[in-house]
Amino acid sequence: MLELFNALLLNFSLLIATLLFAFLPLRRIENISPVSPIRVRLLVGCIAGIIGALLVFNSISYDVAKIDLRLPALVTAYLYGGWVSGGITVLFVIGARFIVTPPGGYEGLVLATLICVALLVTAEVYRRFAARRLKDYLILLGVGIAYSLPALYLLTDTVERFLSMAFVYIIVNLVGGYVTYRFLQELRKHFVFVQTQQELALTDSLTQLGNRRKLDETLAEYAQHGTAFSVLILDLDHFKAINDTYGHEGGDVVLRQLSHLLESYLPDKGLIGRYGGEEFVFLLPDVPLKRAERIGERIRSACADQHFVYKDHPVFHVTLSLGVASSDQASTVFETVQKADLALYEAKQNGRNRVVCYRDPSLR
Ligand code: GH3
Ligand code: MG
Ligand code: MG
Repeated sequence: MLELFNALLLNFSLLIATLLFAFLPLRRIENISPVSPIRVRLLVGCIAGIIGALLVFNSISYDVAKIDLRLPALVTAYLYGGWVSGGITVLFVIGARFIVTPPGGYEGLVLATLICVALLVTAEVYRRFAARRLKDYLILLGVGIAYSLPALYLLTDTVERFLSMAFVYIIVNLVGGYVTYRFLQELRKHFVFVQTQQELALTDSLTQLGNRRKLDETLAEYAQHGTAFSVLILDLDHFKAINDTYGHEGGDVVLRQLSHLLESYLPDKGLIGRYGGEEFVFLLPDVPLKRAERIGERIRSACADQHFVYKDHPVFHVTLSLGVASSDQASTVFETVQKADLALYEAKQNGRNRVVCYRDPSLR
C-alpha cells in the first residue's frame, strides 16, 4: 500500500513539475484553442506528448496493471489544441508505450493505441467539449476511462482483481485530471494577474499613457542598445490658471483631452508618457533633431487650435511649450532629457507657446 502511495505521489509530482515547465513557453499566448495558429497547436501537442511519455515511463504498477496519467495529458492537449495537438500527443504516448513494451506484449500496445485513437475520434464527434469547462474535461476523461476498462478486464482472470484495478485506475485518472485542470487554471489566472499588475505599474492612471517609470525603463533600454533618439518635453502653459478657473477636475479633463491629441502625433516605434503634473515626454528612436522639431511644431500648433471643452463652460484654448534635444548632443540618455528640459525652460522664458531646440552654449 505504501509503495502504491509513493508511486502515486511521484507521478503527481512529475505531472505538476512538467506542467509548470510546460506553461512557460505558452504563457504569453492568449487563448490557445483548436483554431490557434498551427505552430501553437503543434507546440501544445509536443509539450503534452512529452509529459504523457514521461508519465508512461513512470507508470504505477498495481497488480498486473501499469497505471499512468497519459489520459489527463491527452485530454488537456485535445481541449487546448483540438485534434492536431491531441494527435501529436498520441504519437508521443504510443511511442513511449512502444519503448516500455516487453517483447511479445504487443497486444497491449495495440489496445493502448486503439483507446487513444477512439478517444480522439469521440472528442472530434462531440465538438462541444471545446468550451474547456471542468465538466467537459471530466466527461472526456470519463470516456477515456470507459474505453480503457475493457482492456484492463482482458488482463485479469477474476472479477475481484479487475474491480480492484479498475477502482485504482479510475481514482488515479480522475484525481490526475482534476489536478491538471485546476493547476492550469490557477497558473493562467496568476499569470494574467501578474501581467495586469505589470501594465498598471507602467501606466499613468489619469491619462492611460506610460508613466515616468515606463519612460525611465525605455530610456534605460535605449542606453543599453545604444539607440539614437530625440526627446520632446512638453509643458502646458499657465496650467495653474486652468485649475484656478475650472477647478482641479476641469484641469484633469484638459490633461485627458490633450493626451488623446498627443497620441495622434506619435510616430511608429515612439513612446509618449506623462512625466508628472502637466508635463509630457515623447521619446522618438531613430528620429533626428530636425524631424523631432517638426513633430513638436505640429503638436504645438494642433494644441493651440484645439477646442477644449469642460461641462457647460465656453470652449477654451490651451498652449504648450516644448523643448527638444537629441542623443547626439549628449553623452548619456539622462543628459539628453536634461538638455530637452533646458530647452523647455528657454521656451518658457521666451514667451511660451513655442518649440525650442537645445543648442550648445559654446556654439551660440
Ligand atoms: P508654466 O506656464 O510656467 O508652466 O505655468 P504653470 O501654471 O503651467 O506651471 P506651475 O508649475 O506653476 O503649475 C502647474 C500646475 O499643474 C500646478 C498643479 O496644481 C497642476 N497639476 C499638477 N498635476 C495635476 C493633475 O494631475 N491634475 C490637475 N488638474 N492639475 C495638476
Ligand atoms: Mg510644469
Ligand atoms: Mg506648465
